[in-house]
Amino acid sequence: MKIGIKVMGCRLNRAEAGALSGALEYEGHEMVAPNAPCDILVLHSCTITAAAHSEAIRLVRSAKRKGVGHLVMSGCVANLAETEILFDAGVDTIIKKDGEIVQKTGKKPEEIFQVISRVISDRDNTYLPSFASTRASVKVQDGCNFRCAYSIEPDARGEPASRALNDIVYEVRGLADKGYREVVLTGVNVACWSEGEKRFTDLIEAVIGIKGIARVRLSSIEPGTAEREIADLMAVAGSALCHTLHYPLQSGDAGVLKLMRRRYTPADYAAAVEYALSKIPRLGLGADVITGFPGETESAFNETVKLIERYPFSNLHIFPYSERPGTPAASMPDSVPVHVRRERARELIAMGKRKKRDFAKSFVGSRAEVLVERVDESGVGRGWTSEYIEAYIKDLKNDTIGELVTINVNSEFEGKIRGSLI
Ligand code: SF4
Repeated sequence: MKIGIKVMGCRLNRAEAGALSGALEYEGHEMVAPNAPCDILVLHSCTITAAAHSEAIRLVRSAKRKGVGHLVMSGCVANLAETEILFDAGVDTIIKKDGEIVQKTGKKPEEIFQVISRVISDRDNTYLPSFASTRASVKVQDGCNFRCAYSIEPDARGEPASRALNDIVYEVRGLADKGYREVVLTGVNVACWSEGEKRFTDLIEAVIGIKGIARVRLSSIEPGTAEREIADLMAVAGSALCHTLHYPLQSGDAGVLKLMRRRYTPADYAAAVEYALSKIPRLGLGADVITGFPGETESAFNETVKLIERYPFSNLHIFPYSERPGTPAASMPDSVPVHVRRERARELIAMGKRKKRDFAKSFVGSRAEVLVERVDESGVGRGWTSEYIEAYIKDLKNDTIGELVTINVNSEFEGKIRGSLI
C-alpha cells in the first residue's frame, strides 16, 4: 500500500511520525510524500491552539476532496475531539494515544491500523524510526502534569510516562546502525524522564555513549526541573552533547507567570540562565514566549522585554496568546486585545532576529563544529552547529554528509554563518 504521513505540531509529533514511518516501511508499505497520491493518509495532528485544531479538520476535508481513499487521524486532535465530528469531517479511522482504534461502522481493523496503534501507544518498541535527514528525533517520554493555565496538553497527552531506558538505547543503537549521526531527545516534558532511581541526566549519559552517534541534542527543558544538572553535564560532555538549551520562558513578569501557573519566577529563570551561561559561555539559548496573556499589562510586557534583552538568546519562539477552549486561561478576565497581542509579538520577533544575528556574528573569526546534512552540486555543504546555528560550508565533497566537521567561521548572514573546512 502507498501510505503518506502528514505531521503537524511539535518535535514530539515529528518523532512519533518518524516512528510510524519506520514501522510501516518495515512492514513492506511504500511511504510517499504527504501530498502525493496514496491509499492511506495518516494525519498526525496537533491541538495546541484552537487554530491548530481547526487546521487539522481543514486538512482532513481537503485531503478527502483531493481523493485520499482512507484517512487515519492520530495525534492530539484524535485524542480529544468528538468521534462524530471527526467522522463528519471525513476521517475514516481514529487511532488514540492508548492504541484504541475507532472506525466508522462497517469498516474492519486491518494489520496497518494495528501497527499504527501499537506504535502510537508505545506498546511496540521493535521497529526503528525513519527520518529524511541525518538527524533523528527519539521520543523518551510522553505526557505532563504541570497544568499550565493555557495548556491543553495534559488532556491531549495524559499523565507523564517514561519510555524504558533499554528501549531508548536499543532504538538509538539501531538508528546509529542506519546511519543517523545526531539524535534529539524529545517528549512533552523530557526532563521529567525517570526510571527507578535513574533521572534524565542518566539517560543522556547512556545515549551519548552509543557508538556511531556523533552528538545528542535536547528538546525544551522546563524551568524548575533538571536545568542545573543538565548544564553541569553539558559542560563536561564536550561535543557529544550539543551546546543548546531551550528553556520556555512564556513571560518575564512575576504576576503573569503566576496567572499562567508556571512553576518559577523571573528570578528563578534568570538564575537558571546565568548558571548555564557560566558553565557553557557560548551556549545556544532558546525560549518560547507568549505575548498578551490575560492580565499582561504594558508594564508586565516590558518586564519580558527587559529579561530577554539581558541574555544572549539565539532562538526565540514568540506566540501571540490565543484562547484554547477547555483550558483555565480561556475564561480568565483582563483579556488583552488581539491587535496588542500581535503588536507585542512583532516587537519580540524583531528583537529575536537581532539577537540571533548578534549570536551568529559572535562566531565570526572563531571555529565551530557542524554536522553536515547535505552538499549541493556546487560543493556547498549545509548543516547545524552544536549551538544550533545554520551553517554553510564551501568546497565540501558528498562523502562529508553525516560527518561532524570543524570550520573557520568567515561571515554571518541573516543569523546564519558561512565558513570553510579547517
Ligand atoms: S503535544 Fe502539544 S504541540 Fe505537540 S502535537 Fe500535541 S498539542 Fe501539539
